[in-house]
Amino acid sequence: MKLFCPEEVIVERGSETSPIYRNLRRSMAEVPFTLVDDITSATDRRVVTSDYFGAAKRKLYLAQHKGEFFKKCPGSEGQVCCNYFVINFASNCPMDCSYCYLQEYLADNSRLKVFSNVGDMIDEADRVLHKHRGVFFRIGTGEITDSLALEPYTGMVGELIPYFSEQPNVLLELKTKSDCVDSLLDLDPKGRVVVAWSMSPQAVIDWDESGTASFSERLEAARRCQEAGYRLGFHFDPMIEYLGWDADYESMLEEIFAAIDWRKLSWLSLGVLRNTPGLKRAMRERFPRSQLLTGEQVLCPDGKLRYFQPLRVEMYRKMVGWIRRAAPTVKVYLCMESKEVWQQVFGFAPACEKELGDEMAPGAHSTWL
Ligand code: SF4
Repeated sequence: MKLFCPEEVIVERGSETSPIYRNLRRSMAEVPFTLVDDITSATDRRVVTSDYFGAAKRKLYLAQHKGEFFKKCPGSEGQVCCNYFVINFASNCPMDCSYCYLQEYLADNSRLKVFSNVGDMIDEADRVLHKHRGVFFRIGTGEITDSLALEPYTGMVGELIPYFSEQPNVLLELKTKSDCVDSLLDLDPKGRVVVAWSMSPQAVIDWDESGTASFSERLEAARRCQEAGYRLGFHFDPMIEYLGWDADYESMLEEIFAAIDWRKLSWLSLGVLRNTPGLKRAMRERFPRSQLLTGEQVLCPDGKLRYFQPLRVEMYRKMVGWIRRAAPTVKVYLCMESKEVWQQVFGFAPACEKELGDEMAPGAHSTWL
């Protein structure tokens, strides 16, 4: 994987004492650093492009986060929610997938930012986790960024893993399309950290996942993490339908299960391509040649466009069949799908989001198999 390198790092005054600042300075000796009073007023007059979102990914900002770090994943209205929480330590992503929902979600706030006040983030998480010791939390850091793509520069996991690995009621999920795992391998996750890859056949990566690691690089990184004692997850999301998709996805699963011990997998998730009219507009402007714009999608009650329901059910059933053939008891869930689709794929649907969340707890006895 070609490592991202920003043109410039812009640091908001007050962030220079952060460990993240020290790590950036050490790892980016060749990159110019600029100190500013307020990053919101730092504009770049040299950007002469209509692709502001793409241009925003080329500079890295370091600033304090002023709001809350810890949030419940918003999910999608009317769909089965998996009771997931998120901690946002960065915003936007150096990679550039054509279907990335951040193109719409962060359209008005697209700077590639890392937050320097990690201590505040951990204090906030600590208050919540202590107050609700009886509740099991699945927490992810990859909602509005990739969890590991900036890791070689920021060293963020060196701040997060020592804290989260000591918490009895949490699994921290680091979700990525990169292979930047070197800094994880010497840390002890103590069974509390899941490193998860979003996996696609190489054809999809070539077409629509610019700047990400190849399929084999992701799989090798996953294998190394498993060897180092990490739990693993895989997200087949977004699944893309195209001529020959089934042969590609089936052989992708065979390769994964040949390299990974499935008994140590925490979970797999499935979700088909989702769009909104706004995201489609952004994709048309930024990726006019993407094949993802040509397939048929229907508007669902939550306002998102998805493949026609019978096609989604067929895709999920095939995937579940191939997964079960290799890994009969691995936990599989659907991301942002209705109870109706769950019923058709699995023959049941979780009664509530807590049931789905509890099912994913380490050592939970599954009631679904
Ligand atoms: S890796 Fe994830 S966050 Fe980054 S561009 Fe792709 S979809 Fe967006």
